[in-house]
Amino acid sequence: MSGGKKLGEFDIIRDYFMRQRVRREDVWLGIGDDGAVLDAPPGGQLVVAVDTLNADIHFPRGAPARAIGYRALAVNLSDLAAMGAEPAWATLVLSLQQADPSWLGDFAKGFFELAERHEIMLIGGDTIRGPLSVTVAAYGFVPSQQALLRSGAHAGDHVWVSGTLGDAAAGLDLLRAPGTRSEAETWLIERFLRPEPRVRLGMWLRQRATAVIDVSDGLVADLDKLATASGVGAVIQPDDLPISSALMNTASEQRCAEFASVGGDDYELCFTMPPTLRGEVESAAGELGCRLSRIGEITAERQLVARSVDGEQLLHSRGYDHFG
Ligand code: ADP
Ligand code: MG
Repeated sequence: MSGGKKLGEFDIIRDYFMRQRVRREDVWLGIGDDGAVLDAPPGGQLVVAVDTLNADIHFPRGAPARAIGYRALAVNLSDLAAMGAEPAWATLVLSLQQADPSWLGDFAKGFFELAERHEIMLIGGDTIRGPLSVTVAAYGFVPSQQALLRSGAHAGDHVWVSGTLGDAAAGLDLLRAPGTRSEAETWLIERFLRPEPRVRLGMWLRQRATAVIDVSDGLVADLDKLATASGVGAVIQPDDLPISSALMNTASEQRCAEFASVGGDDYELCFTMPPTLRGEVESAAGELGCRLSRIGEITAERQLVARSVDGEQLLHSRGYDHFG
């Protein structure tokens, strides 16, 4: 390490990003040259996803560096999961205002903690000076033509969602407000900072789900994208949306319903499946390690409807739009 000395670009790469535990046979050449050289599996297809996190837009500037490193990879793994891909590699473009060793150490810790859990190797990137911003690309494999798309849902399919909804949006609100926090509030903040990409679920959904999307902008907005891509609509039962006990203990019933239906950042998977697979989904939840809830049904009418004991209501997507 460079002690008190100023960290140069190459020092950063060597000290923080070349030290990783994961080694993969399919990486013939990783970090260090002008490009990485990789072996894609024969007979498979490569799935690529990329996402940028900008300070103050995607996370508060003062968020813990470890969480920023973790989350930058997690949101991309969530995209791979939504495609049914098995993650393999990642690249990282890091724009920093200054090279702070403790910030970089924590950032790398968070990034590699998640990378190791999924046997992902960092194979390259770029390190530049500029406003704090992190772009990660994740690369994964699917057997040929088994990638899961948004576009395959049919009328009559059940709509499912993993985990619980609304936690991350509530957590982000809490993160922005200073003060002491209850155990439930701390848990909600963690759900924002450290989403669990549903990688195993995504792979399990291959050849089972008809359409999949990850919930990043909010359930209504993302289900709307899935329905539009599939040329269908959906009816959801708001009372069936999975809500964590932490959220229930923290927010009013009304706010819980709002967070769960339009709050973003949960990175759960929303998927559709023929009703005949219902039993299989229910019995897989244990093995997959996450709650799976049936929240509605796909319809031929191209609209989103909420149906409860109080009647029916048309839903309008109100997800996050950077330019909206
Ligand atoms: P070049 O001048 O060819 O762009 P760089 O000096 O930027 O090369 O990068 C040197 C090597 O370090 C390359 O293999 C590049 O992919 C890798 N690299 C640079 N920044 C990062 C980073 N933040 N994370 C991982 N690898 C990085
Ligand atoms: Mg470069």
